Amino acid sequence: MNYLWDDEIPRRQYPALKGDRKTDVLIIGGGMAGVLCAYRLKELGVDCLLAEGGRIGNGITRGTTAVLSAQHDKLYLDIVRQFGEAKAKQYLEANLRAVRRYRKLAEKYPCDWEEKPSYMYTHGDTEKLRQEAKTVARLGFPAEFVRETPLPFPVAGAVRYPEMAQFHPLKFLLGISEDLPILEHTFIREIKGTTAIADEGSIEAKKIIVATHFPILNRKGLYFMKLYQKRSFVVALERAEDVQGTYVGTAESSMYLRNYKDLLLVGGGDHRTGKNGGGFDAVHEFIQKHFPDAVERYAWAAQDCMSLDEIPYIGRYSPSAPDLYVASGFNEWGMSSSMAAAEILGDLICNGQSAYAPVFSPDRSMMRAQLFKNMGETLIDFMFPTFRRCSHLGCALKWNPSEHTWDCPCHGSRFSEQGGVMDNPAMKDIFRS
Ligand SMILES: Cc1cc2nc3c(=O)[nH]c(=O)nc-3n(C[C@H](O)[C@H](O)[C@H](O)COP(=O)(O)OP(=O)(O)OC[C@H]3O[C@@H](n4cnc5c(N)ncnc54)[C@H](O)[C@@H]3O)c2cc1C
Repeated sequence: MNYLWDDEIPRRQYPALKGDRKTDVLIIGGGMAGVLCAYRLKELGVDCLLAEGGRIGNGITRGTTAVLSAQHDKLYLDIVRQFGEAKAKQYLEANLRAVRRYRKLAEKYPCDWEEKPSYMYTHGDTEKLRQEAKTVARLGFPAEFVRETPLPFPVAGAVRYPEMAQFHPLKFLLGISEDLPILEHTFIREIKGTTAIADEGSIEAKKIIVATHFPILNRKGLYFMKLYQKRSFVVALERAEDVQGTYVGTAESSMYLRNYKDLLLVGGGDHRTGKNGGGFDAVHEFIQKHFPDAVERYAWAAQDCMSLDEIPYIGRYSPSAPDLYVASGFNEWGMSSSMAAAEILGDLICNGQSAYAPVFSPDRSMMRAQLFKNMGETLIDFMFPTFRRCSHLGCALKWNPSEHTWDCPCHGSRFSEQGGVMDNPAMKDIFRS
């Protein structure tokens, strides 16, 4: 992998846990979600500690394209239909507040911040997007339907959100981390009550936020049924146009785009981890067609947790664990969702409630078509006879020939050719070759 964001970024070292510690709130995981939660808790005057298994920002956050928008793949039309207007407003306002908060922090922590309109485009029927623009305007934000965009290829139409943004995720994350109480190389193997156990010590807390991308506790919250992972592929190009905005398409096969300095980032080829799909081939085909003179500078893939209804899980981990909290299932929109999580969890921990919490409640109904797809996938892979099995729940692993990894289609764990864990929820290596 040739990631763009960690190229030549100076990093400070944080200590590892040695011995036993106590804190009021422990945050497990130092990606965008965990670090923003720690930052918010510190602002609120809460005694907290963040434990990261490796280096902060080196998880999925390193693979993001860092587009910041309240416009996500899930249409507000559908949120209104499924959850009602009040919850759709909560979702919109939580994400708009997130954009505003980043804007303020970006003044203090330089991160190549740029205000850009965000667009969701379609090549097909525009009626749904016209309705979407009206719905969002009714919910209180001036989204508009446009027939043309600055993209160098025609679209049938798009919904445009003014004053959204793009930034450098690692410059931002490392900047806000400077004065936070962080432990690196502190992998939490187990949580007993509200005590987290690592190899070289333990941390006793009053409350714990699990921000480990895929939640690490299997026995509570049924996250192994509520989440699957989707891989996505990004190529950064030199000698391509400035597209003057950030873009996602309505079709599963469409590409997302943004610029960074003199580069154009093109992403897509998404597929469930462990399954076949477009991958880099789809992205390269698109580039060949629309940017034939461009030159590839970086290329990487990463994956995100997808919830059953495309709304993140932010709140209490499960009804049987009142002192555990979770932030996961960001559906490839983890920049604004992480900030929303920091605000919501900060409020829940300090005041017991948050005006934006209900729509994100991890405890909401699981009765969605995706639940049955996840269960079917797990059943097939669990039964499939092979000796290479995932150390998470024992599903059959699939060889990924383009990335040379062993991938689990059930929950998205990935292992190197030699069997080392690369992506969770698995926590143990599988075999030595
Ligand atoms: C290709 C791609 C492009 C994307 N583009 C965008 C975008 O433009 N805009 C947007 O909003 N979102 C985007 N996303 C989504 C966004 O990047 C993610 O949702 C977000 O980065 C996830 O952050 P996180 O903190 O939840 O996870 P991570 O960054 O993975 O952080 C979790 C951390 O927990 C640590 N950890 C795990 N287990 C343990 C343990 N047991 N003990 C201690 N530490 C542990 C890991 O080491 C890791 O550092 C994109 C996603 C992908 C895949």
